[in-house]
Amino acid sequence: MRRVRRLDLDGEVQADLNSRQATADLQQKDGTLDVEAEWKHARQTTSLVSVLGTLRRMMGDRQRCMYCLDSHGTDIEHFWPKKPYPERLFVWPNLLLCCTECGRFKGHDFPLSNGQPLLLDPTAENPWQHLDFDPPTGNIVAKFDSDRNDYSEKGSKTVKILHLDRREAMAAGYQKTFRRLVRMVEEALRQPSPSADSLITHFREADDHGLLGWCFLGSGQNEFPFRELRTKHPVVWDACLRALEL
Ligand SMILES: [Zn+2]
Repeated sequence: MRRVRRLDLDGEVQADLNSRQATADLQQKDGTLDVEAEWKHARQTTSLVSVLGTLRRMMGDRQRCMYCLDSHGTDIEHFWPKKPYPERLFVWPNLLLCCTECGRFKGHDFPLSNGQPLLLDPTAENPWQHLDFDPPTGNIVAKFDSDRNDYSEKGSKTVKILHLDRREAMAAGYQKTFRRLVRMVEEALRQPSPSADSLITHFREADDHGLLGWCFLGSGQNEFPFRELRTKHPVVWDACLRALEL
């Protein structure tokens, strides 16, 4: 996962979503709202095609799923599921880009704690505050929260719901990306004065899985070779941190 910056929708598209939501709210009030039918109908319109286009742009050239970052994002996903929460059916911040597999795993599973979701929303927070990467297996696991002396509850639920610690193909993808990032840092460390610009360019091209967030902000900063880059070349480290906007 990575922190995803949400783009603004085109003005007309946003106005259309607002109007659809207002209609849905009225129908919900008088008991005539058919969530599935409303969504299915809306999905055929140019507005929702544009919404999907904006979600894909948010994910760059490879247009990967916002949850797993491994498979192609094909569907518009309702973070708060549409059936129990029709008041968010056409609300832009509730819409994500998702692959078929993540959509299937999530289903209607959406646990709350004190009214707040326990599933991570990558457009609203930095996932690496709750998640950890395990290089030997390539799995994504819950992060240990030393303040609570327990694993992050949000991280644990997210891993469980999306099966992030038991998807072989996904783990292999994360490991491949991680090895590429490690090689880049090792190569930089072999030079007397590594170039931050060159590293940043290569990092951007290589980080399909959002692992730089783990390497620079998460537990990875304390592991080889990222720890060496941080301690031996702090200026390069800081330049990467600023430029990568993790
Ligand atoms: Zn996915």
